[in-house]
Amino acid sequence: MPRPIRASIDLEALRHNYLLAKKRAGHARAFAVIKANAYGHGLDQALRALGDIADGFALLDLAEARAVRAAGLTQPIALLEGFFEPTDLAEVVALGLTPAIHSETQLAMLERAALAGPLDVLLKINSGMNRLGFRADDFATALARLRAVPGVREITLMTHFARADDETGVGTQLAFFKRLTEGLELPVSLANSAALLRFPEAVGHIVRPGIMLYGGSPMPGMLSAEAIGLRPVMTLTSEIIGVQEIDAGDRVGYGGTFEATGPTRVGVVACGYADGYPRHAPTGTPILAGGRRTRILGRVSMDMLACDLTHLPDVGIGTSVTLWGDGLSADEVATAAGTISYELFCALAARVPVTVR
Ligand code: PLP
Repeated sequence: MPRPIRASIDLEALRHNYLLAKKRAGHARAFAVIKANAYGHGLDQALRALGDIADGFALLDLAEARAVRAAGLTQPIALLEGFFEPTDLAEVVALGLTPAIHSETQLAMLERAALAGPLDVLLKINSGMNRLGFRADDFATALARLRAVPGVREITLMTHFARADDETGVGTQLAFFKRLTEGLELPVSLANSAALLRFPEAVGHIVRPGIMLYGGSPMPGMLSAEAIGLRPVMTLTSEIIGVQEIDAGDRVGYGGTFEATGPTRVGVVACGYADGYPRHAPTGTPILAGGRRTRILGRVSMDMLACDLTHLPDVGIGTSVTLWGDGLSADEVATAAGTISYELFCALAARVPVTVR
């Protein structure tokens, strides 16, 4: 008998969320960000859901790009970090990928390579996030050098926003980007989910929504996924595998961090941090037991966590539990645990069986 934990992936919800992003994008093309195994949802699942509707994809590594092409999909694929070795370039061209060019090192590799076919690229500008990209001083030279590389075809100017999800917004970065690229008449790719949802002026020609496709809000404190109209894609469920009746003064779990103040019925759930549940989720983090809301108690262990069944006397061994997904937003669990839904999804462990619906 396998442990009762499983993640179920709702392909219809993923399609729904993509189409919502696409609607927001208007005339822009929406490249579905499917890096990191589709934010933990499974690349194959994402391709099944989006293969016939996505305008393009965005991901990081060649293995993932190969899988997209192996699925017979011919849409553009943006490589968000570009390539790493000169030897990658032949495959980048052969697979028809669109790498981001963000560094002098990559430019030099391109200049030395004899490209065997046309290559579309994203020229990445550092507009203030200070992660990847050319700064103002280097941009014009980088563009001229890129234009001079035989085989380089379409150049899209790209940047990434650091604060599209908070009160600062995209204003300063967008103004910088516009100043730098004024008069160039090249396509631009700017918006992640937050920018797409909040700043129509930052939509450009290609948008790159990630988290919203998976039903997470990029700014849960400001706007819930539900209010945006997103549907949860991943639902993580398990079961109660043990029950303890404890008294006032008894403690639960490693470190005894939860102490009962009265008679308490404790449910033990087959889900722990080795399954991807955040270890730092404190007492009080919401959970559904038998479809009803309760809270986790004490520290999360490797394979189990405890929850409060005091007010749910009919819940016992074998009752289904929802850790996040349908009926309990991942954003809410993530916020309680001091993290973001991105991290919950990406941390789903390989040992958790995935089913598709
Ligand atoms: N574009 C780039 C360059 C990214 O790194 C990411 C994700 O980190 C995205 C787009 C998608 O962002 P989000 O998941 O917030 O929509």
